Amino acid sequence: TSIPSVRLHDGHEIPQLGYGVFKVENEVAADVTTQALEAGYRHLDTAKVYGNEEGVGRAIRTAGIPREELFVTTKLWNDAQRFDDAIAACEASLERLGLDHIDLYLVHWAVPAQGTYVEAWKALIELQERGLVRSIGVSNYPAEQLQEAIEATGVVPAVHQIELHPYFQQRELRAVHAEHGIATESWGPLGQGKSDLLENPVITGIASAHGASPAQVVLAWHLASGIVTIPKSVTPSRIVDNLAAAQLTLTADEVAAIDELDRPDGRGGADPATKTS
Ligand code: NAD
Repeated sequence: TSIPSVRLHDGHEIPQLGYGVFKVENEVAADVTTQALEAGYRHLDTAKVYGNEEGVGRAIRTAGIPREELFVTTKLWNDAQRFDDAIAACEASLERLGLDHIDLYLVHWAVPAQGTYVEAWKALIELQERGLVRSIGVSNYPAEQLQEAIEATGVVPAVHQIELHPYFQQRELRAVHAEHGIATESWGPLGQGKSDLLENPVITGIASAHGASPAQVVLAWHLASGIVTIPKSVTPSRIVDNLAAAQLTLTADEVAAIDELDRPDGRGGADPATKTS
């Protein structure tokens, strides 16, 4: 399977379609990550708070794929945003993953009320300088906190991972990203099963036209929109199905029709501006 890559502003390349493991138990994570790697995924997205870095790391070692062919993302949890805590948290993640570097390390949430989102970003800059991490980015930073982190350090995140799907398209943040050369990465790309997205007639209509699944149509829309995405599934057939979305090309009209599905109230997860822990 050929998966397109996106070049980050720091020169590194990220496979545009990856495999996410939110809400997957550690033991299950080892098994499903093995399946994902066998299916052909080379980009994995985990986090300290998912509690499955060890299982993901085991799957990586078992697979025996050359390290340089893999792209591994993990994230700094909200309770470790103080500088020294963040350095230690990254070292602990590396230990659990069994890796000597992380390809992309993200501050998981800004948590504006905590007031440490700039300090956390400074720690990631240090981790990159020390070589523990290749690329650094943030996740769930409102535009205001994103700008503040950039202005305070002069360092632009390579990636911003945010909730994004056809019902919640994040046009304003994406415009900020475009100004700075930040790659947009979508979490919850399929809507996390929280809405009728995969039954929406626009989506199912395009799916029928291509003999594809609704999930593949939604993922193909992310890819056509230049977004890096990391769908999750623990179902073997869907793990394979989702990766094959890289082979589905939508027409400009189909992309435009999905662009029309954006909703002002489309957010499914927590609002990064008001999250407190
Ligand atoms: P998702 O949109 O990927 O939805 C996953 C769910 O969609 C599955 O549990 C399954 O029910 C369904 N599904 C998957 N494939 C399907 C298919 N082919 N057909 C029909 N249904 C299908 O949601 P997610 O897992 O929350 O997000 C993806 C990844 O993003 C996560 O695993 C995690 O790695 C990351 N994430 C990051 C944050 C963050 O705060 N940075 C938050 C949530 C998720």
